[in-house]
Amino acid sequence: MMTLLLSTRNPGKVAEMRLFLSDLPIALRPASEMAGAPLVEEDADTLEGNARKKAETLHAFAGLPALADDTGLEVPALGGLPGVRSARFAGPAADDAANRRKLLADMQGVRDRSARFRTVVAFADDTGVRFFEGTCEGAILCEERGNKGFGYDRIFAPDGAGRAFAELSAREKNAISHRGAALRQLVGYLRDLLA
Ligand code: IMP
Repeated sequence: MMTLLLSTRNPGKVAEMRLFLSDLPIALRPASEMAGAPLVEEDADTLEGNARKKAETLHAFAGLPALADDTGLEVPALGGLPGVRSARFAGPAADDAANRRKLLADMQGVRDRSARFRTVVAFADDTGVRFFEGTCEGAILCEERGNKGFGYDRIFAPDGAGRAFAELSAREKNAISHRGAALRQLVGYLRDLLA
């Protein structure tokens, strides 16, 4: 049985990871359950940089394999923003609703509404760091739709779905999402590692 540390303190993400890893001999331990686990500032200028920093810091702290992820919504018409700044797009203390409002405002009158979610998962162990990436192509809506999910889900429609992420069930979203794609690659890697 491998003990795998999780840098995220978000209970929704922890539950999602548990589901993805459920048929592997892995015990997941979120950093939030570990006394003294370091809080990492996400100040890198790339998703890879932040994911690496979080996974390496946790691995160095506890000496066990550690996992971290970082996600950004990339809008070509805005030069790739909000990107690595997605969590604080509307300001240092911004919440999800404020970030969505700012993005809708910035996109007013913009014709190219294409966008992409990108997730980078970093896995750090004694041999180094490995990255797993997943993307989901879609478009920024003109107004909010749906009430499921979190973050930018109400204003992002994945290609082919005809609906916002926030109108999909968790199972439907996982099947096509950026994080689902990255986590499926990670699962393949861990399955080989543990075989
Ligand atoms: P983080 O990777 O959890 O730090 O997320 C960075 C930002 O992207 C936060 O504002 C999240 O709310 C947002 N975000 C991350 N994943 C998703 C998603 O699957 N849907 C919508 N927003 C997301």
